[in-house]
Amino acid sequence: YLFELKEDDDDACRKAQQTGAFYLFHSLAPLLQPSGHQYLVPWLNLLELERLLGKFGQDAQRIEDSVLIGCSEQHEAWFALDLGLNSSSSTYASLPKSELETELKGSFVELRKALFQLNPVDSSLLFTAQSLLRWHDDHQFCSRSGQPTKKNMAGSKRVCSSNKIIYYPQMAPVVITLVSDGTRCLLARQHSFPKGLYSALAGFCDIGESVEDAVQREVAEEVGLELERLEYSASQHWPFPNSSLMIACHATVKPGQTEIQVNLRELEAAAWFSYAEVAAALKRKGTYIQQQNQSFPFLLPPKLAIAHQLIKEWVEKHACSLPN
Ligand SMILES: [Zn+2]
Repeated sequence: YLFELKEDDDDACRKAQQTGAFYLFHSLAPLLQPSGHQYLVPWLNLLELERLLGKFGQDAQRIEDSVLIGCSEQHEAWFALDLGLNSSSSTYASLPKSELETELKGSFVELRKALFQLNPVDSSLLFTAQSLLRWHDDHQFCSRSGQPTKKNMAGSKRVCSSNKIIYYPQMAPVVITLVSDGTRCLLARQHSFPKGLYSALAGFCDIGESVEDAVQREVAEEVGLELERLEYSASQHWPFPNSSLMIACHATVKPGQTEIQVNLRELEAAAWFSYAEVAAALKRKGTYIQQQNQSFPFLLPPKLAIAHQLIKEWVEKHACSLPN
């Protein structure tokens, strides 16, 4: 069904909008409604969206800026529309943020800041939506001819108006590796991390590399270790700061070869952590914002991040092998 919507612009996609759900963004920040400690993610149907645009002096044509982000089992299509970005292919101006918020009884919240208050289903949908909206915003011109590109109805591609080159949305592959020496695991900090936060080693795949090559090189570059064994765990799309495909792996070092040399151009710090330290940090509920002005406890990445899953897997596997 999604394939049909992407390929058959005028018929299928336009028809799907009639019964679809529209998620709104303003300059890549999603519209959210607070509900207790959580955020709800409201959506509008086509009529409500047309009515909203009408109130701000715009017509239904603006809806053609929206992108398809998925559909339900019942074939209800989901779309995302950014009312804050100025697009070169659209004649429509950015709508005023605070007036929209009042009208919609919600707030446009920076996605990174809302991470801890979203459920996994909503966050996955918003990750896709934000990434696709950002990609379209970043690819308004052909990199060969400099001429404007035009998106198809679903937003699954852009075509150059002059030489007809087709551009497809892309993700950059990133390897993320949890290195273990059998009893401890290696965690590191980048300068940009919130205080106290440690995570697994991560880096972009270079052109021409396999996942295995990239993991070996990253670990060697960042901490000077040679890996013995590598095991794939899982993968995840991550929208910050640009769309990445996070490929998560467990790795082990050769026995006795655990001395690390931290590359300080890449990392702020790296160290081996014991099972007890990691298991305790995993149980801690990390709300980074509240703790920023106090002493910094050892924190691990949030549940939504694949690094958290990697660390959790390591702890669970390790718990089984410990004597009672
Ligand atoms: Zn071109």
